[in-house]
Amino acid sequence: AKKLRKGDITFYDEQIREQLTQRYNIETGLKRAIDQHEFHIQYQPQASLKTGKLIGYEALLRWQTAGQFISPDDFIHVAEESGQIEQIGLWVLKQVLSEMQPILASDQSLSINLSPRQFHQNNLVPVISNLLNKLHFPANQLELEITEFAIVSNFERAIAQISELKKLGISIAIDDFGTGYSSLIRLRELQADRLKIDKHFINQLNKSDKDEQLVEYILMLAKNMNLSVVAEGVETQVQLSKLRELGCDAIQGYVYAHPMPIEKVLKSEHSVLFC
Ligand code: C2E
Ligand code: CA
Ligand code: CA
Ligand code: CA
Repeated sequence: AKKLRKGDITFYDEQIREQLTQRYNIETGLKRAIDQHEFHIQYQPQASLKTGKLIGYEALLRWQTAGQFISPDDFIHVAEESGQIEQIGLWVLKQVLSEMQPILASDQSLSINLSPRQFHQNNLVPVISNLLNKLHFPANQLELEITEFAIVSNFERAIAQISELKKLGISIAIDDFGTGYSSLIRLRELQADRLKIDKHFINQLNKSDKDEQLVEYILMLAKNMNLSVVAEGVETQVQLSKLRELGCDAIQGYVYAHPMPIEKVLKSEHSVLFC
C-alpha cells in the first residue's frame, strides 16, 4: 500500500471540511428556498422514434440562490438525507401539475421525478390523488419516475405503492435503468410502464460494443415485458439513428431539445425529430 505523507492527510482533511461546509450551506439554503421563490421548473420535451413527434415532457427542478445556479445533482441527495425532500417534492408536484394543466395537449404526457424517500412516503398516494382532483389534472397523462434504487431499497413496499398509483391511472417509469441494483427478473412484478435507459449507456453507443449490446438487451427485455423504452441524454444524430435501428420507442436529449422554462413550452412549436 502507498504510504501516506503528512501533506496528504492535511489535503484530505481540508477537502472533507470543504465538503461538509458546502453540505451545510446547501441544507441551510434549502430551508428558505420555497418561501423565497428560489425554485422553478424546466421542461424537457420527449419525441417518439416512430413518428418523430413530441409526445411529452419531463419536469426538472431548478434552484437559483444568491444569483447562483445549483444543480439538482448537488442538492437533491442532501434534501433526501435531511428529509427536506418531502416538502420540496410536494412543492414540485403542486407547481408542475398546476402550471402544466392548462397547457398540456390531451395526447401528451408529463413526467415527474420522485426521490426514493418521497416514493416511500406513507401518504404519497392520497396526496397525489387529492392534487389531481383539486387541479383537474388527468391521471392518465401523469407519469412518475422512480429510480431502481427506490425499488430495491424496499421491493415489497415498492410493488404495493406502484399498484396503488396505477389504480389512480398514473403511469410508472423506471428511471436511470441499467445503473445496477435491480434484478431484471423481478421487474416483471412491478407493473411499470416505461424504462428510461440511463444516459451513460447512450453516451457510449458507438464507442463501446458492450454498451451497445446492453442497450440492445434492455430493448429486447422491454419488448418481452411490454414495456416502452425512452433513451435519455441522446445528443447526436448517430446515437439517434442507432436507437431507431434498435427499435427504441422514444428519446429525450439535446439532439431534440434542452430543458426549457414554461414560457418557452407555451410558445414553441416543437421541431419534429425527422420526417
Ligand atoms: P434525471 O432524472 O436522470 O434527468 C435527466 C438529466 O439529464 C437532467 O439533468 C437533464 O437536464 C439531463 N439531460 C437531458 N438531456 C441531456 C443530454 O442530451 N445530455 C446530457 N449530458 N444531459 C442531458 P438535471 O436537470 O441536472 O437533473 C439531474 C437529476 O436531478 C435528475 O436526473 C433527477 O434525478 C434529479 N431531479 C431533477 N429534478 C428533480 C425533481 O423534481 N425531483 C427529484 N426527486 N429529483 C429531481
Ligand atoms: Ca428522471
Ligand atoms: Ca434518468
Ligand atoms: Ca440521472
